[in-house]
Amino acid sequence: MVFTDKITFSTKGFCDIIDITESVDKIIKKTKIKNGLVNIFVKGSTAAITTMEYESNLVKDMKELAERLIPQNKFYHHDQTWGDNNGFSHLRASLFSASLTVPLSNGQLELGTWQQIVLLDFDNRPRERQVLLKILGE
Ligand code: ZN
Repeated sequence: MVFTDKITFSTKGFCDIIDITESVDKIIKKTKIKNGLVNIFVKGSTAAITTMEYESNLVKDMKELAERLIPQNKFYHHDQTWGDNNGFSHLRASLFSASLTVPLSNGQLELGTWQQIVLLDFDNRPRERQVLLKILGE
């Protein structure tokens, strides 16, 4: 069977990193699905979903990594299209990817102890983000 739900998060933008593991877990507990796959997808072309150890220094490292890979204060062609100056945000989002799939076994997400699911908002302004969950299994 397939179970669908969504969660909304308010973000600050500018590489805001939010631990969404508990929210995802709560939804899984609501379903009767015990074994299968959980797909977590963020709508929008300037945000991403991944996993990491959610501790404050690694969160800083992740922000610095994004800045090293795709600096904010550079010229991007996209900035000439709409004038929204978020070319860097789109590129970061594509690089990190919009979705993540996690195995579900015996009602538990198969995450490591130090592995959290995070929402990264790369946009250059605060946003309301919709995270969609598709739980496929039995
Ligand atoms: Zn844009």
